[in-house]
Amino acid sequence: MTARAASTAAGPYRLLVGGAWVEGGAGSYPVVNPATEETVARAPEASVSDAEQAAAAAREAFPAWSATAPEHRGRLLQAAADELRKRGEDLLGLVMAETGATVAVGSQLQVPQAVSRFEYYARRATRNLDIALPPSAMPATPLAPGGLIGALAARQPVGVVACISPYNFPLVNMAGKVAPALATGNAVIMKPAPQDPLAVIELAGIMDDVGFPPGVVNVVTGAGPDVGAALVGSRDVDMISFTGSTAVGVRIYEAGARTMKRLLLELGGKGACLVFDDADLDAAVTALVSVWAFHSGQICTAPTRAILHRPVYDQLVERLAATAPKLKVGPPTDPATVIGPVISAAQRERVERYVELGREEGAEVVAGGTRPHGPGLEKGFYVAPSLLAGCTSSMTPVKEEIFGPVIAALPFDTEEEAVQIANGSDFGLYDYVFSRDTARAYRVARQLRSGNVGINTAQRNHEAPFGGFKLSGVGRDGGEFGLHAYTELQSIVWPG
Ligand code: NAD
Repeated sequence: MTARAASTAAGPYRLLVGGAWVEGGAGSYPVVNPATEETVARAPEASVSDAEQAAAAAREAFPAWSATAPEHRGRLLQAAADELRKRGEDLLGLVMAETGATVAVGSQLQVPQAVSRFEYYARRATRNLDIALPPSAMPATPLAPGGLIGALAARQPVGVVACISPYNFPLVNMAGKVAPALATGNAVIMKPAPQDPLAVIELAGIMDDVGFPPGVVNVVTGAGPDVGAALVGSRDVDMISFTGSTAVGVRIYEAGARTMKRLLLELGGKGACLVFDDADLDAAVTALVSVWAFHSGQICTAPTRAILHRPVYDQLVERLAATAPKLKVGPPTDPATVIGPVISAAQRERVERYVELGREEGAEVVAGGTRPHGPGLEKGFYVAPSLLAGCTSSMTPVKEEIFGPVIAALPFDTEEEAVQIANGSDFGLYDYVFSRDTARAYRVARQLRSGNVGINTAQRNHEAPFGGFKLSGVGRDGGEFGLHAYTELQSIVWPG
């Protein structure tokens, strides 16, 4: 193996194509630390030809890899998990530098979650996913003699999977794609987000080190859309596993049609959080505050639409407005910081624009709304936690995904109205219901047009299927559903 990086954050970082570490065919570009605005390192700028070569290498590696024993694939995934854990401290520093994640988000989630995803799918690589079907008594036809006919629904790897990920959780998101894809016998090309690709290149290095064969794991990076688009257009790629914005998801859906790509599309969200007047309001506030406190709101599942029962509306808005200024906005490396920067200057401007739009459209900005400043904030893309009160469903910041620390609050009077407001969104990724009447909460949950619903909690269950309704995407991963996502069903039929 040749070096992919001299040391963490020092570079030079390279692409992994067919087992060789190569420089980007189109040069390199700077990866910027969102807290300091300094260059963390330069990432390779892959050419379209690099992407095509990675796809061709994966195509070539696929037959032998898919024929390996599942135990072997599980052992390699476990070895990658062990190495990731061993290098956790270095990687944490790197991921925090390139994402702007705080100490809490970085140390509890960015690296440990990636390790546990590898471990989870290492353990499940040997899972037999085939489904035995009952025999069918078939009459004789001109096609074939009659008799008892047996059948099996076998799960086969899809083939070559291009894994295209967003910027918020680079390692975790990529681990959630490549670990189940490799466990089920696919070859992969990793295409991390332009803003923070460095830890994913390190991950590719770890996978190379622990012995994944050449071509089974590849990594290509680039500052623009061309590298991802080349993979979507490639005939050597069977499936796109994409997490990112709905706008790009639509482009992938359209472009992928030409080569009939299998698609897993995990897209944008505009989470509704329905809080009834009998709810544990402390629990509801904690969930809502996560829009600000959890990775500066750059979370697809965040409960960004606070849909509040009128009897508790004023009280909740006041509590939220009082909480926002107490959350420390600051450098992510300061353990006291709750809200770090958003990923880029462009993203900060986008978030600020949405708050302004809300104001212009008649919402009241009861928290935030101005750019934070003070010691430690001279550089960096910081946004104050913001609360828009008195919103209506037709306002732009209620309709569109902001992906920043902004909550929009809307009142409701009846259960029906609450459901109607929640379902009035184009998105349907993750909604929440808070009520002590769990029968009501369950009844409401079943009416929500959303792929995931949390009742009285924002906590996750990693065994549960994850994915979106409506513009939030197509397909499911998570737990064992992640294994299914990277397989095709093949029917095998025989005379009994
Ligand atoms: P993005 O859509 O801008 O980019 C995602 C990835 O797509 C990047 O790697 C990018 O380089 C690549 N890309 C861009 N154009 C492409 C093209 N034409 N063809 C192929 N690939 C292309 O998203 P982002 O700004 O990095 O991330 C934020 C978005 O991701 C938000 O909308 C958020 O809701 C969503 N997200 C969804 C989930 C989920 O699980 N549903 C999780 C995290 C983030």
